[in-house]
Amino acid sequence: MSVTPSASQATRLVEEAVEAGGLERGPADWLAANLGDPQVLGAVQAGAHEAKTRAQGDVVSFSRNVFIPLTNLCRDRCAYCTFAKQPDSPEARTYTLAEVAELTKGGVQMGCIEALFCLGDKPEIAYRAHRDWLAGQGYRSTTDLLVQGCKVSFEGGMLPHTNAGILDQEEMLALRRFNPSMGLMLESTSPRLRGKGQAHQYAPDKDPKLRLRMHEEAGELKIPFTTGMLLGIGENDEERVDTLFAIRQLDDRYAHIQEAIIQPFHPKPGTRMRWAAALPDAAVIGWVAMARLVLGPGVQVQAPPNLAPGLMGELMKGGVSDWGGVSPITVDYINPEAPWPALVALRDQTEAAGQKLVERLPVYPRHLADPDFFDPAVLEATRALAEDTGYARPRSSLEAA
Ligand code: SF4
Repeated sequence: MSVTPSASQATRLVEEAVEAGGLERGPADWLAANLGDPQVLGAVQAGAHEAKTRAQGDVVSFSRNVFIPLTNLCRDRCAYCTFAKQPDSPEARTYTLAEVAELTKGGVQMGCIEALFCLGDKPEIAYRAHRDWLAGQGYRSTTDLLVQGCKVSFEGGMLPHTNAGILDQEEMLALRRFNPSMGLMLESTSPRLRGKGQAHQYAPDKDPKLRLRMHEEAGELKIPFTTGMLLGIGENDEERVDTLFAIRQLDDRYAHIQEAIIQPFHPKPGTRMRWAAALPDAAVIGWVAMARLVLGPGVQVQAPPNLAPGLMGELMKGGVSDWGGVSPITVDYINPEAPWPALVALRDQTEAAGQKLVERLPVYPRHLADPDFFDPAVLEATRALAEDTGYARPRSSLEAA
């Protein structure tokens, strides 16, 4: 196959970006506009792989976790979500501290380190029944319950990582006492998606200004932070590039962005977006690679393996450096229809692509090396589970998980 002028241009732009440690805006816009050309995609993938290899060699990491969906009530109604339930649904559930303790115990027994607290956004604002339930348990808010849940998990031997939607600084400070890292998907910086008929019309917490502000406040508080971009919820190419550059600017300013999850939307029955088309596989591969090139070497690029199980090889050719949390005992409550791979299968597929699967903590070596990012007790507990490399100390084998 002859090399097209576009492919030559792409290769030149990508090589310059790899040398410079990150793609600039003009070249990023050009590559995004031409990503549908298979030769341009190939060049972007090759550059992203080179950038990833220079940053961390052949390592692809994952975190062995327990997923704790503390409450599936949420005041927002995103058009693609099946996680959130109404209080009168038989599937509505809020965990008690005793249930958190039980899950933590099971996680420790299975060699898991991370307790992933993922929950709906401030349901007490929307639902009196939830407010009353919280009050009956002695909590003023869902965050109060969450802080106690994180304490239970931390004291039970796990390291919490919380993603609870929009939090203010006081709430993040309270959670920082037990969480070595926290997160909030930026999803998209596009304000259009809050418009009529769009994915976030009924989701006030998905206002990009609010989400960017929380990212900044987490930076001010020195919290290692997970963010991410959703692919295919109505955003366009330019808005995807905007989102990636917003993430990069946050890390340039606060040095706290530990990873960006690049997550493809899949239409789900029963949602308002059930008829919307998911992005083609090639576009998913391309945007994971673009993230690697834009974000620079300090930010890990994560692709959940259960959301693109047939693409793992191509994603690794395009610079993915982390598979995220994978649990041997709980399902992905956000995407329960998409089972996580067994850990041995994850290892085998990673090795088949010439990469090495390494278990990490809820925080990466980059931040673990800097005590300013942690509460002292959290730092001590986290480092106790790490080996010299900053990754997780070897424990039970993957076969046992
Ligand atoms: S904020 Fe999260 S949990 Fe709530 S509706 Fe949106 S996607 Fe679902």
